[in-house]
Amino acid sequence: MADSVFQMALKQLDEVAKKINLDPNIHNVLRQPERELTVSVPVEMDDGRIEVFTGHRVQYSSVRGPCKGGIRYHQDVTLDEVKALAAWMTWKCAVVNIPYGGAKGGVKCDPFKMSTQEVRRLTRRYTVMIMPIIGGRRDIPAPDVNTGADTMGWIMDTVSMFEGRTVMDIVTGKPIELGGSLGRREATGRGVMISTIQLLNKLGKNPKDTTVIVQGFGNVGSVAAELLSQNGCKIVAVSDVTGGFYNSNGLDIPDMLKYVETSENHLLEGYKKGGTEKISNEELLFSDADVLIPAALENQITEKNADKIKAKYIIEGANGPTTPEADKILGHKGSIVVPDVLANSGGVVVSYFEWVQDIQAFFWDVDQVNESLEKIIVKSFDEVWSISQDKKVDMRMAAYMIAVRRVASALKQRGIFP
Ligand code: NAD
Repeated sequence: MADSVFQMALKQLDEVAKKINLDPNIHNVLRQPERELTVSVPVEMDDGRIEVFTGHRVQYSSVRGPCKGGIRYHQDVTLDEVKALAAWMTWKCAVVNIPYGGAKGGVKCDPFKMSTQEVRRLTRRYTVMIMPIIGGRRDIPAPDVNTGADTMGWIMDTVSMFEGRTVMDIVTGKPIELGGSLGRREATGRGVMISTIQLLNKLGKNPKDTTVIVQGFGNVGSVAAELLSQNGCKIVAVSDVTGGFYNSNGLDIPDMLKYVETSENHLLEGYKKGGTEKISNEELLFSDADVLIPAALENQITEKNADKIKAKYIIEGANGPTTPEADKILGHKGSIVVPDVLANSGGVVVSYFEWVQDIQAFFWDVDQVNESLEKIIVKSFDEVWSISQDKKVDMRMAAYMIAVRRVASALKQRGIFP
């Protein structure tokens, strides 16, 4: 049987533990989430029925600071997946050295089959159910798959109603008017773009001679595609859950972005443009290009398809898109994978900026946000790259070596309570 997502996250941790000779006691502590909460979320649907959804919030580690991580609404959400995502958040915050631990939340539901009112009621009830464990200095949620600024605004309002005051630092990724940060919406995609350009620089390659495929055209994928095309890369294929599009001369990304602004559920389905052919998601992964950016869901590149992937450089926009077995196959082929914990860290970095701005009630302009983001991603990329070169390990191992060492060292210094 294939590994569960959390088993996959543990395998990655176990490998790095071996590599850095991690104290087995510390290793054992880091293999378990600190806290797991499962809640039932009854929602009155528009037709009067009451549907009961299941939600989770997992706090993996608070060793380096308050827990931090997004909330996902998806029909495939499981506690196992939320645990894996919470573990990855822990390593991600440590790689980019921001003062947070890791958490994640999710509700098993299909928001595309629900009205906005139903999703709002679900969000408010889920918020109240996890309220005992979240908080601006405890655990700060953010958007993930199928949640966005609106969702975060409802969470902020719900907590504020209970506390009888405006509580901005409870959640990040909020609308700008409610204490959100300029640049937060684009931050993850921007970080993916910066990571891609950094890799091309290290390899002495020109973005103008680089072709790119993007899987997933949501928050992360669409912004990464847009910014990379602005940097001169040719985006030859993109896809979403409804399928993909290919054009060897480069897709018209601004035109596609305009299309999804008003299309049903912001999906690419029905998009038409001369010279652009329709392809399946599978064909997209195997298309000819220099760079592949998986920016949809986990477990996309597996031992079943890794061999067929032609792109030599994989920049992980999504969390956990490559299985450990696929990682090995890609490594043998000489491909370079810029791991999720580094490549998609732009979102949590600007979430951190948002939280800092909320606490200070002093807001930055977009240039300050983007420049500060770039500084952190470039520095972290350089640290990961040099460990990977010095120790002759792949970039995922290098990133994990940095992250796990940081978390382990904080844990050692705090000691085990009591
Ligand atoms: P999103 O909901 O905005 O977009 C997801 C996209 O993937 C959509 O275009 C959807 O149609 C597409 N998709 C879903 N299933 C697919 C499939 N089988 N094949 C092809 N496309 C498919 O979500 P997002 O916020 O862009 O998140 C995407 C990934 O990035 C997730 O793994 C998420 O955990 C990760 N991530 C997001 C953020 C963030 O700030 N939003 C930060 C870090 C990591």
